[in-house]
Amino acid sequence: MKDRFIDIFRSIYLEEGGIFIDTPAITPAKVFQASGHIEKFEDMAVKCPSCGKFSKIESSMKASGISNATISMENAKKLISESLLKCPLCGHPVSEVEMMNLMFRIPRREDQNPYYLRPETAQGIFVNYKLLLNQNRGKLPMIVCQYGKGYRNEISPRQALIRQREFFMAEVESFIDPDMEWDRDPDSSNAVRFLANSGRETLCTPAEALSSGIVSSKPMAYFIGITHKLLRRCGIRENHLRFRQHAKDELAHYSKDCWDAEAFMDDGWVEIVGIADRGDYDLRRHSEFSGEDFQTEGKKLPFVIEPAHGVDRIILAAMNSSYTKSDKGFKVMKLSPLISPYIAAVMPLQARDGLDAIATDFYRKLLALNSYVCYDESGSIGRRYARQDEIGTPFCFTVDYQTRDDGTVTLRERDTRVQKRYLMKDILSFPVLKNPLIMDDFGKINPDAAALLS
Ligand code: AMP
Repeated sequence: MKDRFIDIFRSIYLEEGGIFIDTPAITPAKVFQASGHIEKFEDMAVKCPSCGKFSKIESSMKASGISNATISMENAKKLISESLLKCPLCGHPVSEVEMMNLMFRIPRREDQNPYYLRPETAQGIFVNYKLLLNQNRGKLPMIVCQYGKGYRNEISPRQALIRQREFFMAEVESFIDPDMEWDRDPDSSNAVRFLANSGRETLCTPAEALSSGIVSSKPMAYFIGITHKLLRRCGIRENHLRFRQHAKDELAHYSKDCWDAEAFMDDGWVEIVGIADRGDYDLRRHSEFSGEDFQTEGKKLPFVIEPAHGVDRIILAAMNSSYTKSDKGFKVMKLSPLISPYIAAVMPLQARDGLDAIATDFYRKLLALNSYVCYDESGSIGRRYARQDEIGTPFCFTVDYQTRDDGTVTLRERDTRVQKRYLMKDILSFPVLKNPLIMDDFGKINPDAAALLS
């Protein structure tokens, strides 16, 4: 699923003219001194005297029935002195509060500065800005993308894929010249749910959000539209998605404005993508620390809009949007064919009488068109269908005794369970197998492919 996500991410950002880079995770301390992460990338943690565990202050506030999004150190201490902050794990009042840096520090020899594991992939892009700009022929806007692992020493890594210490990120840094008009128009066809920091909730297109002032910058409205398209392609349901603006005191140290794409999960709304307006913060700081000049022709620093995707969380949200149970109690994961681990499974009805040889040959031919196919010959055919339903494979092709006579196989469709016969040679020309991205932005198969399937 992660590979399928990367395919979606790449196709969307290649269309935007993005360039891709891969930089190391192990990073010299100086980079994070410049970026401000050593000083400011920290969370407030509380300690429970009874169970001895640390928890994020937000979890403690939630467990204590306090609904503020953020809290100052002073107020946290006051609540602790009144025994009003509880441990979210055992319920005992907590006794201590402190700020904890979230980066993993890697010691070196005594006389040398340490390394750190990157908490975001973005800094690898900023420190390579000049090289990238050269690659982009000196032109702005420049859209740079990177995917890879990010590492954060989270205070309480819990909730499965939601809070991990090592997680997969896909980040986009869009460098924009402040003297040039952003000339790409925000999407004006698909409505998105906006929750502004004023508390107002509006369902409108990104173009309308810009013209009515809900979103204040054109590139921000543009990237909200792109992110919405990407998340819908991943098969996250419309009513499981919203864009929430950060409150001023919630913003990261580098951020001027931020809209989170949030998905509805088991215990409420969870951030899956953060779209931050980083202003010229990073280039300014790196310029101060390295002495390099990153200014535009107009002697200004480019500003940056950054959609930062948490891939593990997006995958969890896609599964959450797709999980169903059939009337007989079987699990069916109705994943979009763009994000499912496999698009199709090939199976011989029986693993004998030459059916397995035909099926293997057919499987190899499909594999040459699309690597997201699998082969399965073990167990009864009903069990094999159930197994594929459970992992969300939209199509199963079965080679049976009739295949030997007329070259047809059955195609079983996951969501309808309808089975129809097709010639193997016609299936090999299904556009959806050659290129799943012929599906529209919302994961629906386009009419040409649908005609072939009907
Ligand atoms: P941020 O730079 O904090 O906005 O993080 C970017 C994205 O990474 C977030 O939108 C989350 O989806 C994801 N993310 C952040 N922290 C974690 C974590 N500890 N485990 C899994 N995903 C995370």
